[in-house]
Amino acid sequence: RTVLRVENLEKFYKNKGSLTKAVNHISFEVQQGEYVGIMGASGSGKTTLLNCISTIDHATAGHIIINGKNVTGMKERSLAKFRREELGFIFQDFNLLDTLTGRDNIALALAILGEKPALIDKKIDALAAELGIKEIIEKYPYEMSGGQQQRVACARAIITDPSLILADEPTGALDSRSAEMLLNSLEMLNEKKKATILMVTHDAFTASHCGRILFLKDGKIFNELIRGDDTRKE
Ligand code: ADP
Ligand code: ADP
Repeated sequence: RTVLRVENLEKFYKNKGSLTKAVNHISFEVQQGEYVGIMGASGSGKTTLLNCISTIDHATAGHIIINGKNVTGMKERSLAKFRREELGFIFQDFNLLDTLTGRDNIALALAILGEKPALIDKKIDALAAELGIKEIIEKYPYEMSGGQQQRVACARAIITDPSLILADEPTGALDSRSAEMLLNSLEMLNEKKKATILMVTHDAFTASHCGRILFLKDGKIFNELIRGDDTRKE
């Protein structure tokens, strides 16, 4: 089943008469259960592409279809609802709410969707056990290390059972040990929870955990690498 279809996507920026083709005619698909990385040098268009897919930015042309819904034509109000229901987000700087414990950060994502309070704690307890963060989620973000915050952010991203999890440089602010623990968590979500993950990174070690890597250059996909397969597609 196709979870994400990007069709002839373009995003151009006009600045003082000059035109930057940040995303220049990109097409690709992500199937249910895939773990896909997007790699590329600074300025290659990774952030712009991810922002378009996460419906935060609007494409100049082309289509993005997520779980059968064409998001490129949607109004802002429907998009806010769509993001809550269909997408999970993991950011470089964690983005947990500082006034809430880890548990309440995760609970909020479910409460907004109207989940019954009695079920919320049950779901969180089960997931926290699987991720090995049972003690951590009772703390406030400022009492957690970066790696702990990011694993709580993983729990928040998956708890609503989204069609697609979007991760933007998730290891960017972590030391190598915390990064490895986070990558294990993401692998667990992908393998055990069947989460579909699209991750932007410029770090090769991080990308090497993906099942497939798309390489961006000057706003285009110029290479694709499939793990366990050394044939390359142009
Ligand atoms: P990456 O995430 O790979 O570093 P970006 O998507 O941030 O790449 O940027 C791609 C290109 O688009 C770069 O040349 C960048 O300067 C340009 N760009 C990104 N955002 C804007 C913007 N808001 N206005 C003008 N140019 C932009
Ligand atoms: P990354 O760390 O992923 O490479 P950037 O530092 O390129 O991200 O971009 C950070 C933010 O600044 C993005 O939201 C991007 O759209 C914006 N941006 C990047 N380049 C430009 C630019 N030339 N003009 C205006 N905004 C830009």
